[in-house]
Amino acid sequence: MEKAEEIETNVTQTVTSFEELNLAEDLLRGIYGYGFEKPSIIQQRAFLPIMKGRDTIAQAQSGTGKTATFSIGMLSLIDPKSPECQALILAPTRELAKQIQKVIMCLGEFMGIVCYSCTGGTDIQAEKRKLREGRHQIIVGCPGRVLDMVEKKILKMDEADEMLSRGFKESIAEILKNLPEDVQIALFSATLPPDINELTKTFLRDPAKILLSNQELTLDGIKQFYIGISKDEWKFNTLVELYCNVDIGQCIIYCNSRKRVDEVTEKLKEKKFTISSMHGEMKQEERDLIMREFKSGSSRVLVTTDLMARGIDVQQVNLTINYDLPTRKETYIHRIGRAGRFGRKGAAINFVLPEDAAALKDLEAFYSTQINQMPLDPDQIFS
Ligand code: ADP
Ligand code: MG
Repeated sequence: MEKAEEIETNVTQTVTSFEELNLAEDLLRGIYGYGFEKPSIIQQRAFLPIMKGRDTIAQAQSGTGKTATFSIGMLSLIDPKSPECQALILAPTRELAKQIQKVIMCLGEFMGIVCYSCTGGTDIQAEKRKLREGRHQIIVGCPGRVLDMVEKKILKMDEADEMLSRGFKESIAEILKNLPEDVQIALFSATLPPDINELTKTFLRDPAKILLSNQELTLDGIKQFYIGISKDEWKFNTLVELYCNVDIGQCIIYCNSRKRVDEVTEKLKEKKFTISSMHGEMKQEERDLIMREFKSGSSRVLVTTDLMARGIDVQQVNLTINYDLPTRKETYIHRIGRAGRFGRKGAAINFVLPEDAAALKDLEAFYSTQINQMPLDPDQIFS
């Protein structure tokens, strides 16, 4: 599943078991209790520098255990006896922040730590009160909301390139200004474009690096296909055919705008298909409910935007459909990486209009991968 020899790294020391890390007994229990038996490739390399307090940049394919890497690394540095906030994790969406919080609470179950999520979409005054009163050694949040409430020692960033891009960059710089100078920073993502590498130089001091090249990023476990469609109006019928013929565990359908999500959702509901949909214009309570339903498996098909492109880990997802091709190359690998988690089998199907042909070729070149025409027999897509 993972190819160690294709990693570019300045970390020479690796571990092959969780025992070698000399973790506290209650953390080790949490790890085994969560079902992990041995560290993944990225974990084998990244645990030690993080645990030694070194700044770290780690890039590895989606589904290879990056979240668990910084979660366990961080938990090993937390003093559960101190009620003070000792670590901050930043993620680009509320859904991802809440997912990370749950993972940390599970891994840290026997440590008696409290991890609090600080994501916006909730009453800010109530949240401030809670933060002031609370014992919470760890905070997981989104930059906007976190900026109001900083007092930490360690900072981890998940989906780091996204965090250092767009509107987030200023918030991050501002948050960093409020942290102690000796703060340890760790960045994680499946994609780290060169301009981001440049940016990290200003934030990180002599970081441990564990990086994969773009060519190594596509997962062997995810089969990629395209379906040529002459007109945009015909995409919907193609989707309906797929829905009826493909054996879907759980599936995410990506559209490029909120409006498109609403349109596709409405039409699927007219056809009496049971599906859920989510985008950033919905109320937070609704978003939370939909996430719970999708994660529990009670809803099996989710129509959404790039809000759900990164980080979300639902092991039963075996298919992603790009109803619209993503406009950014990096996004492609995040979207299709929602299927085939931790070495499972998965497939991605791209709807390609004539005007998308060049973009599809670009994606193939960028990731040195092959996106084949969809086979006629749908049973072949997962084999
Ligand atoms: P990434 O952030 O790299 O996309 P995640 O950290 O979300 O990946 O992990 C993907 C899945 O693999 C999760 O369901 C996680 O619980 C599981 N996982 C992570 N590390 C291990 C491990 N060492 N052993 C078994 N499963 C693991
Ligand atoms: Mg992740």
